[in-house]
Amino acid sequence: MKKYLLQEEEDKKYIWHPFTQMTDWLDDTPLVIERGKGSFIYDIRGNKYLDGVSSLWVNVHGHRKKEIDAAVRKQLAKIAHSTLLGLSNTPAVELAKMLIPLAPRGLVKVFFSDNGSTAVEVALKMAFQFWRQKGRKRREQFICLRQGYHGDTIGSVSLGGIDLFHSMFRPLLFNTIKAPSPYCYRCALKLTHPSCGLACAGEMERLIKKLSAVTAAVVVEPLVQAAAGMIVSPPGYLKAVREACTRHGVLLIADEVATGFGRTGRMFACEHEGVKPDLMAVAKGLSGGYLPVAATLATQKIFNGFLAPYSKQRTFFHGHTYTGNPLACAAGVASLKIFEKEHILERLLPKIAYLKKRLEDFSELKHVGDIRQAGFMVGIELVRDKKTKEPFGCGERIGARVCQKARKYGIILRPLGDVVVLMPPLSISMKELDLLLDGTYHAIK
Ligand code: PMP
Repeated sequence: MKKYLLQEEEDKKYIWHPFTQMTDWLDDTPLVIERGKGSFIYDIRGNKYLDGVSSLWVNVHGHRKKEIDAAVRKQLAKIAHSTLLGLSNTPAVELAKMLIPLAPRGLVKVFFSDNGSTAVEVALKMAFQFWRQKGRKRREQFICLRQGYHGDTIGSVSLGGIDLFHSMFRPLLFNTIKAPSPYCYRCALKLTHPSCGLACAGEMERLIKKLSAVTAAVVVEPLVQAAAGMIVSPPGYLKAVREACTRHGVLLIADEVATGFGRTGRMFACEHEGVKPDLMAVAKGLSGGYLPVAATLATQKIFNGFLAPYSKQRTFFHGHTYTGNPLACAAGVASLKIFEKEHILERLLPKIAYLKKRLEDFSELKHVGDIRQAGFMVGIELVRDKKTKEPFGCGERIGARVCQKARKYGIILRPLGDVVVLMPPLSISMKELDLLLDGTYHAIK
C-alpha cells in the first residue's frame, strides 16, 4: 500500500476531528498536510494549496518564515519548556515587553496562557475577581453580543451566542446578558445603517445602564464578530460601547483573538476607533501562527486590585501548565520583530485596497448576498435569494460545498456556515491574492 494511502486510512482510524461531522469525514478522503512554504501548504500526495484561511486565522508571515524557524531552533537549543508558575523565562519576558508598547494605551501587564479560549476565560475571571475584591460582590454578570464567539471552554461558551455551536451546552453554562449583534445585513432591530443612528449601540448602552450595578464587564470582539461570519460592525459602534462602559463604570473586555496582529489592517482592531479596553485577550497570530501561546493584557488598575498580603487571598489562582512556553514565546518575539523590520502593516495597505477592489466583482454573482471586509478578514455571505436574503437550507451545506470546490483550484478555505471566509497570511503576494480571488470566484460561481 502506498504510504499516503496508509496515512489517510490511519487518520480515519485514529483521529476525531474538531468541528467536524465525522460521518462525512469518514466517507471522504482526508487531506493530510505534510509541509508548508510561504502562502502554500502541501499534502502527502504532493498537491499544493494556497492557505486561504492562514491555517485557521493564525499564520501571519507565511509558513517556514526563516527568522521564526531560526528563533524556535535557537530556543530549542536552550530549553523547550519551563513553567511560569513560580519561575520566569527569557522569551516570555521579552514577548511581554514587546507586546505592551504595541497594545492600546493603558494595558500594562501580560498574563500568559495558551489559546484563545483560555485568554478569554482569564479575562472574565479577572474581571469577576476584581469586583469581588473591591467589595462589589453583586457585579457578577457579563454583557456580551448575540452571535459572539469567544472559544470552546465553558466560560467562553457562556459568553458566546452562536446557537449552532452553543445551544447544546446551555444547561452547563452560566447566564449572560446578550445585546444585539451589530449585524447590518440582518439587523435584529430591523433598521438600516446609517439612518439607524447606531441603534444597536444605543441598545447596548441601555442594557449597561440598567444593569451596571450587577455587571462585571462587557465582552466584545472588536470590529469583527469573526466566527459568526465576519460580521463587521459599523463605524463608531466600538467607540460607543467603550464610552457607555466608561459612563456606567463597567469594564470592557476586548477579545482580539481573531482580529489581533494586523488582521484588520492595524496591529489591533481597537486602534481603528481609539478604544482602550480594560482587559484584552490575544492568541492566534501572537506566535506568527507557529505555536500555541495566548495572553490577557490588563490595566494597572486591575492589576493593583489583586495586590495584597498573601493572607488576604487576592492571588489570581489561574494558570495552565504550558503558560508562557519558551518556544512559543520565542516564535512570538521573532514575529513581532518582523512586523517592525519588514514594515508589515504599511505594506499591507495596498493589498487590503486591492482585495477590496477585486471583491466588488463578487457582488455580480447570483448567490452573493453580502460581502464584508475589515482589512484581511473577509466574509462572503451566500444566500438563496438576493432580494429577500433568504438563506440556503442548513442541509445544503453551501459554504462547505464552495470550499470543497475551491480545492479544485488549489485553494484551502474553511467556511462559517454559508459564509465563505478569506483570511490569507499577511505576507501573501498580489499574484497569490489573484489566485485566491480567482479560485474563490469560480468556486462560488
Ligand atoms: N475568541 C475569538 C474571537 C475567536 O475567533 C476564537 C477562535 N476562533 C477564540 C476566541 C478561541 O480561540 P482558541 O480556538 O485558540 O481557543
